[in-house]
Amino acid sequence: MSNTTTKETRCSFCGTTKSKTKILIAGLDGHICENCITQAHQIIGEELKTESKSGKLELDLKSPQQIKGKLDEHIIGQDEAKKVLSVAVYNHYKRLLNVDDSVDVQIEKSNIVMVGPTGTGKTLLAKTIASLLQVPFCIADATVLTEAGYVGEDVESVLTRLLQAADYDVEKAQSGIVFIDEIDKIARKGDNASITRDVSGEGVQQALLKLLEGSIVNVPPQGGRKHPEQKLIQVDTRNILFICGGAFVDIDKIIKRRVNTQPIGYSIDQENMLDEYNVLKYISPADLRTYGLIPELIGRFPVLTHLDLLEEGALLRILTEPKNALVKQYQKLFDLSGVKLKIRKEALEFIVEKAIEFQLGARGLRSICESILIDDMFNINEIQEKGDELVITREYAESKFNSSNIAKLKVAS
Ligand code: ADP
Repeated sequence: MSNTTTKETRCSFCGTTKSKTKILIAGLDGHICENCITQAHQIIGEELKTESKSGKLELDLKSPQQIKGKLDEHIIGQDEAKKVLSVAVYNHYKRLLNVDDSVDVQIEKSNIVMVGPTGTGKTLLAKTIASLLQVPFCIADATVLTEAGYVGEDVESVLTRLLQAADYDVEKAQSGIVFIDEIDKIARKGDNASITRDVSGEGVQQALLKLLEGSIVNVPPQGGRKHPEQKLIQVDTRNILFICGGAFVDIDKIIKRRVNTQPIGYSIDQENMLDEYNVLKYISPADLRTYGLIPELIGRFPVLTHLDLLEEGALLRILTEPKNALVKQYQKLFDLSGVKLKIRKEALEFIVEKAIEFQLGARGLRSICESILIDDMFNINEIQEKGDELVITREYAESKFNSSNIAKLKVAS
């Protein structure tokens, strides 16, 4: 009788015969089939995951100067904010990398508030820092948050986003960065009646305190409202860095009033005449309080910085200089279809003029460029057939922009 079955090569791990597997890899003394390889791979993955969870935070932390250098590659201007942020972020993560509960000096967390007009780079700064450090990052909008019991999102939903950004790795999320946008919109009604604000704002501020003061928070994994049958994930917020941003419209009036009424000796002296065009640089926590943020919340943000309004020169640089500059992006897009895109300096100046008119800071640049180039992007094949170059002059940019929908929007408003 033949004994082929006993002689047939088998996987040394599961015993499956060669004829029953697709791949059987031979080693010195044995064999392994594809199923066992897959299984082993999964086990390794899970083991390494638990190992890294129990370990300390791993981070390639650069010096504040190096962090600022990297920010310079992406963000134009805003030197003050970049410097303050580099130091705050460095201190925060230095503290995390050297956690030692036994020492008597405990370094406090340096949550940050950035005050500055729309489209000046607040979100971009926070996002760039997070990607530089390769830590989980999420953006939350303060205006959609409500106190428990009201229609809207519970403040815990902010942490749901962070968990999602960390692929539900709780340990990783706990050393991430949360950017809360439009924090000014949850200011309570203050003494400045010209500013209309949400009356429920104060309740949201109170609710936010819970996240900020470093506690264990129960987070619904899918966001939304908590409901009884949902399994909650516990997140320790002690080491999460919170960065808030807001335009704080009209806060310049509050700053001016304070500076002008300050006792002699503290006010800005003759040599340093009040810079009327950049009052934000004098901002202090007291102004946030007058604006309507509660003192407990302000106390949780030891770092306060401002961003400048972007002037013509800065907007021009934003169009062309940063690593991911808009013009570079469009050129790359056209290049992919074999067309060289050239935008004349005068055309760029026109784009900037319009952005200033729209008062959206750098945020308006993209939609203006889009309105000028949309037809050419649509007709890319025809352009390609005619030649390999597309030159955008100021006249061309003006005519395309003027016939676009956003130009009409401006007229209508
Ligand atoms: P903010 O949060 O201050 O309202 P953003 O950071 O969202 O503004 O800016 C919107 C877009 O404008 C960014 O994605 C970026 O493309 C551009 N931008 C704004 N400010 C700058 C800047 N200082 N340097 C380079 N690009 C900028």
